[in-house]
Amino acid sequence: MKINRIALIVVLTCLFQWSGYSQNAQKPNIIIILADDLGYADVGFNGCKDIPTPNIDRIATNGVKFTNGYVCFSVCGPSRAGLLTGRYPQRFGYERNPQYRPHDPNMGLPKEETTLAESLKQVGFTSGIIGKWHQGADISNHPLNRGFDEFFGHLGGGHAYFPELLTIKDSYAVENSEGESYKTWIMRNHEPIQTKKYLTDEFSDEAVQFVEKHQKESFFLYLAYNAPHSPLQATQEYLNRFPSIQDTKRKTYAAMVSAVDYGVGKLLDKLESLDLDKNTLVYFLSDNGGPEKDNSSDNGVLREGKSSIYEGGYRVPFAMQWKGTVKPSVYENPISSLDIFATIAALSKVPIKKDRPLDGVNMIPYITGKNKGLPHETIYLRKFDEKGYSVRNKDLKLVLKKDGVPQLYDLAKDIGEQNDIAQQYPEEVKKLEAIRKEWDSQLIEPIFKGLIMSKGKKTKEDNKE
Ligand code: CA
Repeated sequence: MKINRIALIVVLTCLFQWSGYSQNAQKPNIIIILADDLGYADVGFNGCKDIPTPNIDRIATNGVKFTNGYVCFSVCGPSRAGLLTGRYPQRFGYERNPQYRPHDPNMGLPKEETTLAESLKQVGFTSGIIGKWHQGADISNHPLNRGFDEFFGHLGGGHAYFPELLTIKDSYAVENSEGESYKTWIMRNHEPIQTKKYLTDEFSDEAVQFVEKHQKESFFLYLAYNAPHSPLQATQEYLNRFPSIQDTKRKTYAAMVSAVDYGVGKLLDKLESLDLDKNTLVYFLSDNGGPEKDNSSDNGVLREGKSSIYEGGYRVPFAMQWKGTVKPSVYENPISSLDIFATIAALSKVPIKKDRPLDGVNMIPYITGKNKGLPHETIYLRKFDEKGYSVRNKDLKLVLKKDGVPQLYDLAKDIGEQNDIAQQYPEEVKKLEAIRKEWDSQLIEPIFKGLIMSKGKKTKEDNKE
């Protein structure tokens, strides 16, 4: 009798473990690590020489390095709205950085849109966001009201890094001032808390704890560092890592990137020590290109930077790993941050609303080589206020600005967009112009005024996007 009981327990344990395994194999955990304003050439896997990023590079070495990875907008807020909804933000009028307005429910991500966290909730995931939200400071748009189960971070578009600079307890007491929003206490869910560490370290340690806490569940962690976005602030510990960089600005930026890298390392180590690394898909990318003059970032050969419709604005450092499933490789075809939602949706089988179709594709068949085609024939960008458009179709890219004079570049030969060939190829310009018009007809105008339209006294932060 006793033997039978032991046998039964063994069988049940095996069954339980097997079913748990198969369920997890279909639905890997998700971690999206988003850097803020990180230059294309500021990671080791894109050739950076003066800032070692061994841990961020681990993701690219373990998995896939994307050389043509795009985000859907060239400044923070709209880019993040696209990442979180899997849809071009220009479709729902999110085309400007939101102002910090804690009592304006319409300044932020429209409620009609579905976030990744809201979708994953329907299939049993626990979701957490650590870091920068920037999708609206009104409580109706608080992460906990947009599908996340846990929040540790700040609501606005940037933040001071040293705890002694965080002097405003109540995030909702700040009225329409970006500068003041940078000084608010960090929120844990709805509670303001007094932090003690350099902010990047706070976020990294919190991320490690999130994984530890939810290791037995299916989880989605959105680790949205505000680094290396300005203000340029770094601890001596990180500055000391760069004795040979003489330029103070670049040195501080390097220290900030190094802090992010250190945190990424701690998180990857935790996944490995808990034996979750094969069952967790990890993405790393920047929300837009580096604003080179502002934070001393470097987009390498790419033209211009943050806010631009040239490559430096929205082609970003982009890598992902899914150990055991996706083999190490380099993927050269254009992919989009919008593909992250579509990939997760396909793997997790989340329901997609018919009236809110996704703009991305499931990346997995492409990066495993099962599908040899292009994930996207065309990558789009519109910046409404500048009457600016970029339309990349295969390797040809149309750039249209306020002056209405089309520019054409062949990115296969001219990654730096130095040689405008519009005059030589009028037929190609016409073709791309037709593609642009067709896409444009699907978009709406911006639905809130945003940072760019803010009136009154402006602080340094108000002028930064
Ligand atoms: Ca940004």
